[in-house]
Amino acid sequence: MLLPADREIRLGIWKIHILHHAEAREVWGTWLLEELAEHGHALSPGTLYPALTRMERNGWLRRTGAAPHARARQAFRITPAGKRLLKDLRREVAVLYQEVVLGEVKANKRGRS
Ligand SMILES: [Zn+2]
Repeated sequence: MLLPADREIRLGIWKIHILHHAEAREVWGTWLLEELAEHGHALSPGTLYPALTRMERNGWLRRTGAAPHARARQAFRITPAGKRLLKDLRREVAVLYQEVVLGEVKANKRGRS
């Protein structure tokens, strides 16, 4: 069970994950809940659906309308703005990974870490 503070910091990670998949294919709630659960993120629909709505409102996702599956009525794809954001986020995640996971320190930090 996630505490609200856990949810707050992980929400950004989940949204990056959602953008990544929405770039590759049409996504919808139940598919995303299963996909995120496979990565160990047990989101509730009450967390996911408002997040999708906010991502749509921010212009990163758009509803695709007529979807082939009954379960995909709320299907989404990434927008051009979402693609631009994802491109930036990929670079930022790579830098974060290098520093936080690999422990690499950039030379341009003037000795601070
Ligand atoms: Zn995934």
